Amino acid sequence: MALPEKFVDRVLRDLGPVEGRALCDALGGTPPVSVRLNPAKAAVPEELAELRPTERVPWCGAGYYLAERPQFTLDTDFHAGAYYVQEASSQFVGYLLRDVPCEGARILDLCAAPGGKTTLYASLAGADGLVVANEVDRRRAQVLADNVRKWGTGNVVVTACDAAQFGDREAWFDVVAVDAPCSGEGMFRKDAEACTEWSEGNVRLCAARQEEILQAAWRTLRPGGMLIYSTCTFNRDEDEGSLERLLERVGEEAVEAEEIPVDAAWGIVCGRVGAFRTYRFYPHRACGEGFFAAVARKAPDAGGRSRTPKARRSAIVPADRAAAAELGRWVREPERMRFGMAGETCYGWYAAQADAVRTLSETLPVIYSGVAMGQLFKGKLKPDPALAFFTGLDRRALPATELDGEEALRYLRRQEVAAGRFAEGMNLVTARGRALGFAKRIGNRVNNLYPNSLRIMKL
Ligand code: SAM
Repeated sequence: MALPEKFVDRVLRDLGPVEGRALCDALGGTPPVSVRLNPAKAAVPEELAELRPTERVPWCGAGYYLAERPQFTLDTDFHAGAYYVQEASSQFVGYLLRDVPCEGARILDLCAAPGGKTTLYASLAGADGLVVANEVDRRRAQVLADNVRKWGTGNVVVTACDAAQFGDREAWFDVVAVDAPCSGEGMFRKDAEACTEWSEGNVRLCAARQEEILQAAWRTLRPGGMLIYSTCTFNRDEDEGSLERLLERVGEEAVEAEEIPVDAAWGIVCGRVGAFRTYRFYPHRACGEGFFAAVARKAPDAGGRSRTPKARRSAIVPADRAAAAELGRWVREPERMRFGMAGETCYGWYAAQADAVRTLSETLPVIYSGVAMGQLFKGKLKPDPALAFFTGLDRRALPATELDGEEALRYLRRQEVAAGRFAEGMNLVTARGRALGFAKRIGNRVNNLYPNSLRIMKL
């Protein structure tokens, strides 16, 4: 795929002929493949049979480069949420938080789909923390919610609205991340569409959109909190330019974040824009796609009382005592959780953030939160597929049936599976010990309850 002429001209002008040519050559090459493990489901890549890790992503403890791209769709660990296929440079946002106590923090991921960074933040926030993952595009928000369910941490709220709507929720979050919609110059070798859709006009359009999103992000950040801005593009207008336009508005309210060590061997180009520290990944220098990240804090004395917009009625109704007892039976730490209903579906939330989830659901279009546990019929829970992925599931709640490779793939395709190994009634289906979903045996038949929306289509 030929690079856009005007892009090449600009790069050669900005970086000089040697460096500019090296970047263009790298953008014509093959991207490295990398994954990030889900620490709650896999401690080391050796536990994952289909992956051939070569080395670690140097700035991410759970990140690994792979020798080749496996057929992820045919790997049961992929479906179990044991890892996320995420390009290496993007994993750097976790490194920016290395000295920030994230456990228990409220993190907002304003432009979140499909959820690469959301899942990373969810692992950092822990059971007492909360990640709000927002995506304006409804279809993409559903994919985001699917990835959140699979990751299984139970500490994420997915909202589907324009970032601007968060501007009314002043001084609410400890960390706000804007992984902005951008012209995608850093993705040219991975995504041919980014290349064909690129134009100078689109760069300007993206820069204007970033300005609006950053303003909302700043308002919703609490004094002392941290703003992480990132794009997967190289141009100044969308990177340093967007930060400069934000700084023009917020002035002294922006202060430096803590310095973090960056090894020169990683090939990251470090810089500054006012209070922001910036980090740029060029694919001819660093092992990853093109990426730009920046970080600053809101001054602790920036003022701004935490303000929540006027509430509508919450869609959440607390579970009664009998329902809570049945739901509590399915999780390992019921005393740490609260249960409730949204419509017919029962949900569980970690207690530390349950009130925050409720407030969010009163004012924003929440499409998923906590862990969907299922529906109660005559006081008994019919589990939701999301509960299988939940890392807090108590496996003693029901029998588990382990399926081997081919049979597990039949299950994931929603085909028939042989009844032999299943116990009568509801079973947790596992492959290599990792939960994939539920199935119910009734006599000689097994009802495959794997959700249609997640089913593998490939034969
Ligand atoms: N953070 C994601 C990840 O790591 O997987 C990638 C995010 S992608 C670069 C930017 C996302 O922002 C797109 O999904 C896009 O639909 C969404 N978006 C665009 N405009 C938005 C807006 N005004 N408010 C919220 N999201 C927006």
